[in-house]
Amino acid sequence: MEIEKVNCLIIGSGPAGYTAAIYAARADLKPVMYQGLQPGGQLTITTEVENYPGYPKGTHGPQMMEDFKAQAERFGTDVRFGIATKVDFTGPIHKVWIDDTKEIHANTVIISTGASAKWLGIESEQRLNGFGVSACAVCDGFFFRGQDVAIVGAGDTAAEEATYLAKLCKKVYMIIRRDEMRASKAMQHRVLNTPNIEVIWNAETKEILGENGVSGALITDIKTKQDRKLDVTGFFVAIGHTPNSQIFKGWINMDEQGYIITTPGTSKTNVEGVFASGDVQDKIYRQAVTAAGSGCMAALDAERYLAAKGIH
Ligand code: NDP
Repeated sequence: MEIEKVNCLIIGSGPAGYTAAIYAARADLKPVMYQGLQPGGQLTITTEVENYPGYPKGTHGPQMMEDFKAQAERFGTDVRFGIATKVDFTGPIHKVWIDDTKEIHANTVIISTGASAKWLGIESEQRLNGFGVSACAVCDGFFFRGQDVAIVGAGDTAAEEATYLAKLCKKVYMIIRRDEMRASKAMQHRVLNTPNIEVIWNAETKEILGENGVSGALITDIKTKQDRKLDVTGFFVAIGHTPNSQIFKGWINMDEQGYIITTPGTSKTNVEGVFASGDVQDKIYRQAVTAAGSGCMAALDAERYLAAKGIH
């Protein structure tokens, strides 16, 4: 197996990873980045970003990530396709396997692997995934133009995606398990004032119907236990995310949900020379700008660690 020595290895390519790369490259740490399963991260599956400072007219998620990448490469970051599959953080040289074919020996590692969409966990959801069931309205909404669809969830993501779908689809059923929405007041207002969104409160999805495609959804009222069939051809799930930290289990301290624990006010993990930034260590803020900020912290922490160890 090929072994490569790297001074600063960055795993993941969302706002945290690219910001770490920009800082690490400008500090001459010669960063190597592996982009992971979803190059550009979660912002590549959103449309408009209106709350990132510096874009007074807003921008688009995929374009923003292209800009981040270009800026990281401008200062010499080696951006590569590939997925980290295994680690060994026993010694001062941190070993990371890429696609099970390459072994990286890194002085410092910045983990910025982000988080992935959660699913309801019912059988029909997985069986019809990609055949009418989707966790990304922005990616797949287009296929359901002029049709009726359903979306599950009550957070900002679900609210944002419901209004997005409402522009494309005839009708959007929003299935909410409680009698209130977690989404911000502004987003709730937008949802409740969109005429072709019907919010169904206190409802649970029993089954997504269909064989080779979605032909409906069976939901039940949690309070009255009454079932209702929704005639939909698309079913979207927007119920939050899980941190992508599985390969670090047993090496890096994490909470019960798998979010990496960092020393407050820093990006330091329990392993010297291994730092974490972005959504993989943040279950509270989870914004592009906070992820970027924590990526900057990780690069500065890595730089100081290397300087203290006298590694050049
Ligand atoms: P959240 O964790 O905020 O919300 C998840 C939603 O899914 C909750 O309403 C939850 O219900 C519901 N849910 C969870 N599990 C199930 C289930 N099994 N069945 C039915 N419903 C379920 O996730 P989001 O992805 O919406 O948002 C993540 C973070 O990103 C938040 O901090 C949010 O504010 C932020 N965000 C900001 C945006 C913006 O500023 N433009 C856009 C999108 C996200 P319950 O409420 O009952 O727990």
